[in-house]
Amino acid sequence: MLSRRGFLYGLGVFAGSRLVGLDRTEPDLILYNGNFWTVNARQPRAQAVAISGGRFFAVGSNDEVLALAAGSARKVDLGRKTVLPGFIDAHSHPLDAGLMHLRMVDCDLRSIADILKALQERAAKTAPGEWVLGFKYDDTKTVEARALTRDELDAAIPEHPVFVVHRGGHTAWVNSAAFKLAKVDEKTPDPPGGRYDRDPATRRLTGHVSEAGRETFEKLMPSLYTRDDHRAAAKLISKMLIRTGITSACEADGTPDDLRGYQDARDAGELLFRAYCMIDYTHLEEMVAAGVRTGLGDEWVRVGGIKHFADGSISERTARLSQPYIGRPNDFGILVVSEEQLYERVRKAHAAGWQVGTHANGDVGIDLTLRVYERVQREIPRADPRFRLEHCTVVNDPLVARIKALGAIPTPFSTYAYYHGEKMKEYGAERVNHMFALRSFIDAGIRPTQASDYPPGPFEPMMALQSEVTRMDARGNVWGPAQRITLEEAIRVGTINGAYASYEENLKGSIEAGKLADLVVLGRDVFKEDPSNIINIPIERTMVGGRWVWES
Ligand SMILES: [Zn+2]
Repeated sequence: MLSRRGFLYGLGVFAGSRLVGLDRTEPDLILYNGNFWTVNARQPRAQAVAISGGRFFAVGSNDEVLALAAGSARKVDLGRKTVLPGFIDAHSHPLDAGLMHLRMVDCDLRSIADILKALQERAAKTAPGEWVLGFKYDDTKTVEARALTRDELDAAIPEHPVFVVHRGGHTAWVNSAAFKLAKVDEKTPDPPGGRYDRDPATRRLTGHVSEAGRETFEKLMPSLYTRDDHRAAAKLISKMLIRTGITSACEADGTPDDLRGYQDARDAGELLFRAYCMIDYTHLEEMVAAGVRTGLGDEWVRVGGIKHFADGSISERTARLSQPYIGRPNDFGILVVSEEQLYERVRKAHAAGWQVGTHANGDVGIDLTLRVYERVQREIPRADPRFRLEHCTVVNDPLVARIKALGAIPTPFSTYAYYHGEKMKEYGAERVNHMFALRSFIDAGIRPTQASDYPPGPFEPMMALQSEVTRMDARGNVWGPAQRITLEEAIRVGTINGAYASYEENLKGSIEAGKLADLVVLGRDVFKEDPSNIINIPIERTMVGGRWVWES
């Protein structure tokens, strides 16, 4: 295979006679009569591909590729449909989200009344005293236009501790039973790196808890999930992702259990996308002791970087900013780590040969993280460390220049301008022009990725393309027009750049001979679509490794 690949990379537009004399040159599948956007600069467009052993074998015109067909090759007429490389979601929480879908109440509902009803129904099936858990709650998306309250949670579910986590994952709402269990009351101080919100007038706890304040409650929950649950979670989320055109995703804060879950699902034939599994920093020592580092694995399940955290969340408005949130002059957000702590952690991972990714949203969080990266790379220089800045949301020109100088990779939210538009007013129009800053990154020669952060953001790649190209939300408001990019740029961000972020740019991310046969067939040509309607393009088929994993 390897010896042949070098030759086939150059095959490109002229096939046929040049293949004579090669051994085993027969493709097992040919897709022809398609409108292929390859994301390969040497051959941007094609009509047909030949596939062999799960990889592209030849890419070219119908005549060139069909001439390769031997007796056994299946031929599929794509009816001139547009084909893109499979999308790579470079920062998401697929298995983690799969677990939540298995066991927690999906609170992505449009009224507080509906949310309380769904929690109540779960409580009715849960033994008194045991937790009732909700996820994907969004305080800005209910008709009541306000947040849940402790009192209404108490009234609806008095017998169970309740914990409803925001879809951003950094803050939660709890009831009085949960406070009692956690031994947190009005006299309890806020924990370092966290908050228990209090009524400004009465100092009574409101039930809204943030960052380390949220973790207080999570620590009390018995581990809900078995080994088999992890496998089932990978299976469940597989089906959700592939129907949107995602063929690879990065588990952005995984555990050894998640890694095993991916492997179990893969062995069971249930894993339908390729997973790059970053590992939470708390597991670094056991991973290093086992002799593991970034890159171990194969094209289906691979060990990613070590994940660290610097600050809060954009969708929950806790990211650490140099200028306060609009309307809250004393609120600059939350740093969850000191620079010295982050340095100690990052240094260990970097010295052990791991790629490092740090959650850093606000300009203060990003500045701090960059200083740590610059310092460890100075102290322990490594070739091509590909430091990652997870989210890297609010930037400025000096930060962008330092990201470029370090060769770091930002993974900004792809769907937020569209999906979380209503929250952008808390950042203000001027600052939003420096958020999810794809234009600035690309112009500086940096390789940003597509990243949903699901559950915090929806993962549909068509929504990502629309959001990045238009910067318009569902109501027609435009957020940060200075950061618009072209559709071609957005497709590169969603494909080859994602492959680069996991050191796999020679393996996937474009449609070219030798690479994995991962692709998506669109129902309509995205280049002919009104940019504000891209989200409605149907995904007709998704292929991973030469096999159709989704057909509408
Ligand atoms: Zn994340």
